Amino acid sequence: SKMAIKVILVLVCSRGQHTLLKAMNPLFPNGLILINVSFREGNSPDHHQNITYNQLLRSVCRCANALKLLGVKKGDRVAIYLPMIPELVYTMLACARIGAVHSIVFAGFSSESLCERIMDAQCNILVTAGNIKCFIKLEVWICVFFYTDCMTPWDESCDIWWDDLMDGVSDECEPEWMDSEDPLFILYTSGSTGKPKGVLHTVTGYMLYTSLTFKYVFDYHHDDVYWCTADIGWITGHSYITYGPLANGATSVLFEGVPVYPHVGRLWEIIEKYGVSKFYTAPTAIRLLMKYGREPLQRYDLSSLRVLGTVGEPINPEAWLWYYEVVGQQRCPVIDTFWQTETVKHLQLSKPIMNKTCPFFGVQPAVLNEHGEELEGEAEGYLVFRKPWPGIMRGVYGNQERFESTYFRKFPGFYVTGDGCRRDKDGYYWITGRIDDMLNVSGHLLSTAEVEAALTEHPSVAEAAVVSRPHAVKGECLYCFVTLKDHKEFNRTLMDELKRKVREKIGPIATPDFIQNAPGLPKTRSGKIMRRVLRQIARNEKDLGDLSTLADPKVVEVLFSQRCEAAA
Ligand code: AMP
Repeated sequence: SKMAIKVILVLVCSRGQHTLLKAMNPLFPNGLILINVSFREGNSPDHHQNITYNQLLRSVCRCANALKLLGVKKGDRVAIYLPMIPELVYTMLACARIGAVHSIVFAGFSSESLCERIMDAQCNILVTAGNIKCFIKLEVWICVFFYTDCMTPWDESCDIWWDDLMDGVSDECEPEWMDSEDPLFILYTSGSTGKPKGVLHTVTGYMLYTSLTFKYVFDYHHDDVYWCTADIGWITGHSYITYGPLANGATSVLFEGVPVYPHVGRLWEIIEKYGVSKFYTAPTAIRLLMKYGREPLQRYDLSSLRVLGTVGEPINPEAWLWYYEVVGQQRCPVIDTFWQTETVKHLQLSKPIMNKTCPFFGVQPAVLNEHGEELEGEAEGYLVFRKPWPGIMRGVYGNQERFESTYFRKFPGFYVTGDGCRRDKDGYYWITGRIDDMLNVSGHLLSTAEVEAALTEHPSVAEAAVVSRPHAVKGECLYCFVTLKDHKEFNRTLMDELKRKVREKIGPIATPDFIQNAPGLPKTRSGKIMRRVLRQIARNEKDLGDLSTLADPKVVEVLFSQRCEAAA
């Protein structure tokens, strides 16, 4: 029975300093209750634990009862900011069990980003650990900021230890009856205006689609051991670590560590250790591991692998070939799964040939040109969808207008993905990347506006424009042009301050790789920055095409002459 199937959990938790969580308290609205997860030690392969479905159920029920004790009711929003530990899964499922709406914030986001999301979703409970500690350790200069805040005294009136809360609560909890269209969770994704959007998903459509896609896309069978290396803080983790596999009673691996600790063969070691047969990761991880060659893989037995999946960003041919030939030993199909926080599941599912994709059941893609005309046959243009399907988002939390304008206004009658694509003569789709002002860094979607807003908060910066530049491991990285206020000097200290600013405002994932001093930016006569030109400067593409709409074409020459060759 499902109850007897084991979920294997690899726990590598070294985090957990409650004091750091205190750090964020002053940022929060009144009445916020802080719950802490108990400490766990170590980031070594020795720290692992098996959890059965029965244990999982009990832990979820205990957590559900604890949330109820705190007054959480159906429909209330609960913020979760945890590393990849079982308590993260318990808490999200506990919310689902009692009808509360979880809003998980990726633990790599800064406390300001967390705060923004908590306020937008009007959460009054945050379940967290000291998991921001690891980032602070890495980024010594942020440490000062948090260290100061760490002095914030523990507030008995609103702070609670997880262990104290769980002490003595019952491990039985009747699930709440829900309407199929009741909200299940909110998950924030970057928006092109800079302010993140709270993508809202509902109970039945989401569960149905994650469960179904998990089963069919990965060809899941009960003797499989499945492992997705994503973080639950992103939609991939929500869907393909928690809901999809668990709804199928799957045996799966939850991994908290990083691919290169304590050695560069860590992922391959885990595949051997648990006999992983279905493996799902991101191109950025593949590119990172490719750098170390075949030797780390050859130390382990990867013969259990049957299907390989990739998600998050376009996979480049070199990475695809390495994944197929070296990891999959030319036995395993590579499934390239294109999807978004908003769409939940595999819009496309690839054939076992280099990242060509075709739609999953119920998904009807179309390719449009700039005028919204549908293109037939072989074509390249905007990727849109004709009809909704059960797992599609139901709205932007608290902002119906933004939901309509972001996804449906540009091409009425279609859902606009924001991605470009090419359909080949055989009818397969090839995703060509974002065609709006969004960047995809290591599979994380970032908004240029959000980074620009962080940069212009610095007192020396008058204006900023951010574009993407290809990066060997991350896929894309941030190239920032900054125009300084009069008499301000562009130097190393300023660059460091700007990087820090972005990390504080958004998080380490958004750290700029390149920062260029831009005495002027290429603008049209109506004052609009021509990002196309900036992208070409960042990529050192000399053929700039038509510049006749520029107010001052000389700006381009200056920017070219001062372009950054090396990362900041
Ligand atoms: P997110 O909502 O953060 O999951 O990001 C969704 C975006 O990631 C999409 O709009 C694409 O730009 C990109 N993306 C996700 N998966 C793929 C894939 N398999 N191939 C190409 N781009 C992808």
